[in-house]
Amino acid sequence: MNIIETNLEFGALSTRKSTKRAILHHAEASKCTAEDIHRWHLQNGWSGAGYHFLVRKDGSIYRLRPENAVGSHAKGSNSDSIGICFEGSYMTETMPQAQINAGRELLGYLKGKYGFSKVQAHRDVCSTNCPGTNFPFAEIAGVAASNTPVNSTPAQTPTTYTGNDWVRRLQTECNTQGFSNQKVDGIPGKNTLAGCPTCRKGARGNITGLIQERLNSLGFNCGKVDGIFGAGTRAAVIAFQRAHGLTADGIVGKNTWRALLGL
Ligand SMILES: [Zn+2]
Repeated sequence: MNIIETNLEFGALSTRKSTKRAILHHAEASKCTAEDIHRWHLQNGWSGAGYHFLVRKDGSIYRLRPENAVGSHAKGSNSDSIGICFEGSYMTETMPQAQINAGRELLGYLKGKYGFSKVQAHRDVCSTNCPGTNFPFAEIAGVAASNTPVNSTPAQTPTTYTGNDWVRRLQTECNTQGFSNQKVDGIPGKNTLAGCPTCRKGARGNITGLIQERLNSLGFNCGKVDGIFGAGTRAAVIAFQRAHGLTADGIVGKNTWRALLGL
């Protein structure tokens, strides 16, 4: 088994005194990286990624919070558990086999290392539907303890979230949703601007999520990046508009998009 180390920087953490179980989660995001989770959890005001591991759809396993630290993933159950997050949204999606295999390998390894057999779903300990009704819980949790050898891939240079990466994802999303048919190059221009739909309170979806992400990164706090254009997002848009000398109507139209794109 291979664990990919990360360079995530955490705030204050405390050492976990005992390890009696693992608790399984889904990310509730179809696609996400270790850095995404870390950023989301920092935005919650936590010390950084609350889970100890991320299992991605391609079967890669990433380290998040240090393994010996108390996690922040299942309220009331963090003091003696290891939290494992699976990329994906398993109320609706079906887990790829590579991810199931990696989850089994990781659980087998952790059971062997710590000598526990108890594995729970987040919903077993908190009021939540996490990790989703389609999550193959028994198949993953039921794995036997093993003494799998572990290799680790050293951390890569931390991913920096430049405007270009955000622009690239925005361009992709605008094309996917049919608002544009533009080149996805991460460079904002007039085609990018022309392809951005007007968004206002009540909007939902990935474009709203990208607006939230951008506002948060620019210091106009929308709270959680949830793709829902609610009152908090509207307030952040208004603050952004005021700071840029735009009409402060809370609606992301052409002029606001222009400023968000840095044009
Ligand atoms: Zn969860």
